[in-house]
Amino acid sequence: MHRIANYTSSVMAYLHAAHLREHGVMAGVIDASISAITPIYNVALIKGDYELVIASKKATQRATELLKELELNPPHIEENWENDIRPDLSLLKKEHIPECPSCGTWLCSSRPFGPCIKCKAKYDLMQLVFDQHGPDALACCYEQQEPLANLTDAEVCSIDLDCPNCSYPLDGLPIESHCPECGNWFHRRELFRDILTPL
Ligand SMILES: [Zn+2]
Ligand SMILES: [Zn+2]
Repeated sequence: MHRIANYTSSVMAYLHAAHLREHGVMAGVIDASISAITPIYNVALIKGDYELVIASKKATQRATELLKELELNPPHIEENWENDIRPDLSLLKKEHIPECPSCGTWLCSSRPFGPCIKCKAKYDLMQLVFDQHGPDALACCYEQQEPLANLTDAEVCSIDLDCPNCSYPLDGLPIESHCPECGNWFHRRELFRDILTPL
């Protein structure tokens, strides 16, 4: 796992991770909000509470570009949204993701309230999904199901992943195997579970 950014807001960290996943980069958030006591000053240090990590070093450049894009055109977050149970909108079925009510562009699940990438209109993605497809379409965003449960082993194997022990790319290896470089045993689903399941 490779750390590529830090956030103080959990909701921003999760939305950015969702944005990367939507664009083919396996990403997750590690809650690193541990306050450490420094031995010298004896003060609590709280830094970068939420770490955005990606599963493969190879994807670093792509991920950095995607984050830059987001920075130029950041998603709008409604006040207090963070306090509600956080739905994982990246789990929405593709066919349930609506078009922008103003310009017809496909919306991104990582921009729950806009602005639309094309026309900058604001919207409420969950409300649109609810109106168009009913509450069942949103249910999958709250399910505490096994991450990637809907993917076959072959599909899981096709996601770029580096050895968590030595960072060797595990390309072409089966779902469960040993790292050819350091011998570390791994199971792809377990590694992805670690980065996709918030503690
Ligand atoms: Zn639009
Ligand atoms: Zn290794």
